[in-house]
Amino acid sequence: MGQLTEAKKGRITPEMREVAKEEGLAPEFIRDNLAQGEIIIPKNVKHSLTCCKAIGKKTKTKVNTNIGTSTDYVALDHELEKLRIAIEAGTDAVMDLSTAGDLDKIRRSILRACPLPLGTVPIYQAATESIAEEGALIKMKKDKIFQVIERQAEDGVDFITVHCGLTRQTLERLRGEGRVTDIVSRGGAFLTCWMVANDEENPLYEEYDRLLEIAKKYDLTLSLGDGLRPGSLADSTDRAQIQELILLGELAKRAWEQDVQVMVEGPGHLLFSEIEANILLEKKLCHGAPFYVLGPVVTDIAPGYDHITSAIGGAYAASSGADFLCYVTAGEHLRLPTLEDVRQGVVVARIAAHIGDISKGVKGAMDWDRKMAEMRKKRDWKKQVELAIDPALAQKMRATSKPHLSDVCTMCGEYCALKIVDEALKLRP
Ligand code: SF4
Repeated sequence: MGQLTEAKKGRITPEMREVAKEEGLAPEFIRDNLAQGEIIIPKNVKHSLTCCKAIGKKTKTKVNTNIGTSTDYVALDHELEKLRIAIEAGTDAVMDLSTAGDLDKIRRSILRACPLPLGTVPIYQAATESIAEEGALIKMKKDKIFQVIERQAEDGVDFITVHCGLTRQTLERLRGEGRVTDIVSRGGAFLTCWMVANDEENPLYEEYDRLLEIAKKYDLTLSLGDGLRPGSLADSTDRAQIQELILLGELAKRAWEQDVQVMVEGPGHLLFSEIEANILLEKKLCHGAPFYVLGPVVTDIAPGYDHITSAIGGAYAASSGADFLCYVTAGEHLRLPTLEDVRQGVVVARIAAHIGDISKGVKGAMDWDRKMAEMRKKRDWKKQVELAIDPALAQKMRATSKPHLSDVCTMCGEYCALKIVDEALKLRP
């Protein structure tokens, strides 16, 4: 039985106990909020996860890492190495976004190597297989989408992005809006092409109950995707985006009625000044469902630095109530991420998540900073390195610049403020 079914029956599962322990929260709190839909534990009944994660109310803000092949670069070993680096850097979840190569083989290999919740976007495989088998994306059969979802669920995928709120009505809003960057979601683009060419409704919306049936069978968490997320600041918080969000709120409720766990995806590119309003809207319109934001990237002009633009947005989003941050790498908008892009992307997203946790008052978050401050005052670099979010980098930097005095750093040298004041205060009678 799924986590939501058990929670509604008032039962505490081993997974609820595990995440409660990790979060320092009572198992009853996890159960009760899971029953309300405000916490999720993405875990397919077919996947033996060694590390369950809770996402949502009062839990630590989690970080997701996207990996996967593209039509320009297919190397399974490389993606597995990205997975290893992401886990080492402290990611909480991983998504396989592969669109080229043997997609079943790639996904199964990643699943075997991944101790964390794994997500996918099944429309990628449905679309690419349809192109290979039928000759064109627009010839994709509706059944194909559901067959791929079931195949991936059977393999043990824990959560899937499904763009169910991208409907004919929301597309009309998009046309009326006159956006600068139209649609930047790949899944949203595939579905839009298919819907426009076939003059049909989105099967994921039209046959939502069929999707819920599959999800319930495997306790597959639905990540209700934002196919119309803004792809530039010019399109931030427009009618198309909000229309889709209203639908996602309705779909979240229908999922809960069928005991299916859901989270809701959000932007994207957003004006910094609109982040808080976006979180408020999601929480209100989607009845407290966990909010999974992609960034948000808060300026469009910094390619090469989008791990930073998204961390700035992510920190504010997390402090305003976002529950799950999808990392963005320095390679965003420019290339498939390299191994180093992945490592840096995870670390900066974790920094953003942690800043949010301090602001939200998540249990234990502030203690970490206090310990670091105490070790700084003591000028204990060994402990500072151990406490650093990226100990390897902290160690490397300390080692590359040797001060004359061992209890200061080369920033101020013998004029180390901490040392001067420490010694001065000791002299006081
Ligand atoms: S030398 Fe300056 S920067 Fe370094 S620990 Fe002392 S006060 Fe801090």
